[in-house]
Amino acid sequence: MNLVEKMVLEQGIALSNDVLKVDAFLNQQIQLSFMKEVGRLFADYFKDKVITKILTIESSGIAPAYATALQLDVPVVIAKKKTCLTSSSNTYQSKVYSFTKQYTYNMSVDQDFLSPTDRILIIDDFLANGQAALGAIDICDQAQVNVIGFGAVIEKSFQKGRQLLDEMDIDVYSLARVQSLENQQIQLL
Ligand code: 5GP
Repeated sequence: MNLVEKMVLEQGIALSNDVLKVDAFLNQQIQLSFMKEVGRLFADYFKDKVITKILTIESSGIAPAYATALQLDVPVVIAKKKTCLTSSSNTYQSKVYSFTKQYTYNMSVDQDFLSPTDRILIIDDFLANGQAALGAIDICDQAQVNVIGFGAVIEKSFQKGRQLLDEMDIDVYSLARVQSLENQQIQLL
């Protein structure tokens, strides 16, 4: 059992049959030794794939993406969910439905930060129904960059994200795979 699986079992809370709360170590409080190990595990898996950049989605993807980027020594690009006064007008955009927040947002990345020679690893905190992953892949397609893989700290394998990415031949690596959250019990694959 790796550290992510251990933390999910010990500190994760099944809020319902669908939603896992991991605020204690990933979504609100970030435990540094844990995040360092997340980076090491992702980097170990993807180290021979010649990754040039990591793409993540604000905000909970940033910490695991950064921890992995430190190990692979590559930049991190953060896909934004909101625009502000400093936002570029030259962006790749994709509409994404958020399962946990129950709303649709516009994911965007400044066109300057993705170039056709890039080999992208996408990292996020969760892989659930795969909508965030599909949005990030859509943005990579618009930028004509290669998606080398997708790393999820936690995958809820009973939802359809994994299957969607498998069907697209994306190399998915999840550090913990949750099989079920039924009856408030966290079961791993
Ligand atoms: P998807 O687009 O794959 O359905 O969901 C991915 C995003 O939704 C993740 O970036 C994550 O922030 C959030 N998410 C989905 N399911 C869960 C969950 O069970 N717990 C938490 N904390 N976040 C989730």
